[in-house]
Amino acid sequence: MFKIYSAAIQLSILIVGVFSLIILGFFYLYTGSFTLLYEIVYYIITCQFILFVVSFLVIQKYVERFISTKIEAMYHDLLPTGIPFNQTSMQKDVWALTKSLQQFAKDSKLEIELLKDKENYRKEFIGNLAHELKTPLFMVESYIFTLLEGDVKDKKTRQKYIQKAANGLDRLSFIIKELDLITQFETGVTSLDIAQFDLVKLIYEMIELLEINAAKKEINLVCNLDIDTPIFVEADRERIIQVLSNLVVNSLKYGVKNGTTEIEIKDLTNEKVLLRIIDNGKGIGEEHLPRLFERFYRVDKTRNRNEGGSGLGLAIVKHIIEAHNEKIYVESTLNVGSEFSFTLAKAKA
Ligand code: ADP
Repeated sequence: MFKIYSAAIQLSILIVGVFSLIILGFFYLYTGSFTLLYEIVYYIITCQFILFVVSFLVIQKYVERFISTKIEAMYHDLLPTGIPFNQTSMQKDVWALTKSLQQFAKDSKLEIELLKDKENYRKEFIGNLAHELKTPLFMVESYIFTLLEGDVKDKKTRQKYIQKAANGLDRLSFIIKELDLITQFETGVTSLDIAQFDLVKLIYEMIELLEINAAKKEINLVCNLDIDTPIFVEADRERIIQVLSNLVVNSLKYGVKNGTTEIEIKDLTNEKVLLRIIDNGKGIGEEHLPRLFERFYRVDKTRNRNEGGSGLGLAIVKHIIEAHNEKIYVESTLNVGSEFSFTLAKAKA
């Protein structure tokens, strides 16, 4: 606050100082000494005070006008949506402007940081995308060109190469389809087909489907829900199958031999249930949890890629759940296990 008056105060002190020197000069010239000065000292102090106040008011007025005219243009340029400039109350406007500029600077800094984050994220995303596509593309390319060169005479080997190229194409199409799905969710193109269905039945269908995968991994896939006691929810059944399948498949992929994956339903509120997928697998370090649902985010890049995942599974899961206006949670401890859970709306009776 003092800063805004400091120029006027300094100038006023200077004027009072010069005035005092002149008075002292005249006094000395007129009387030939300073001995009688004490007789008029009160007059001088009063004059100095009056002069200080008058100079301060005049200078302050000019300083304000100067600041106002200089920054009025800047005011409108910088703050197009700022408060209107008020000529009649410059003091107030200078204050308001200072505050608005401070806020503007703060917002701009935040915006720049956000843009930097976005830019980093974009770079990382493009890098990841290129990496994901490169491997299967090279695979297809090398097998097809080897076959085109015509050097592979053995029919069985040719068949094997064709199959390998086809696998590469499958992988490419899988990644592109998953990315396309995420983009559809992000742009709001995909609409949900909301209907009422029995969640318990869906879970048992899923278990039946994935039992072979679980057996291969020597993991016990369990659910203690009573199949004859339905729990009806309101959601897009096909999408929820996709979510559940991604989460259960992950629990098997990142599970441990003789481990367990358990599916549970918890009655949360009058309107919501919580579907939990709990495993005692490898778990995830705490530092990875905040970025886990990002596209292509992987905890252990090489190991997870070898598991055959695209790094898009959890991003899709999150988008589907958020499209339902529901919430997804993850809790995990390294070498102990993970729990992924999400809410669903109970069917209205
Ligand atoms: P991916 O295709 O690599 O499986 P996801 O998006 O499905 O991609 O998962 C992202 C990463 O989260 C995985 O690479 C894995 O490291 C970790 N992850 C997901 N689910 C689990 C789980 N149940 N246990 C341990 N790690 C998991």
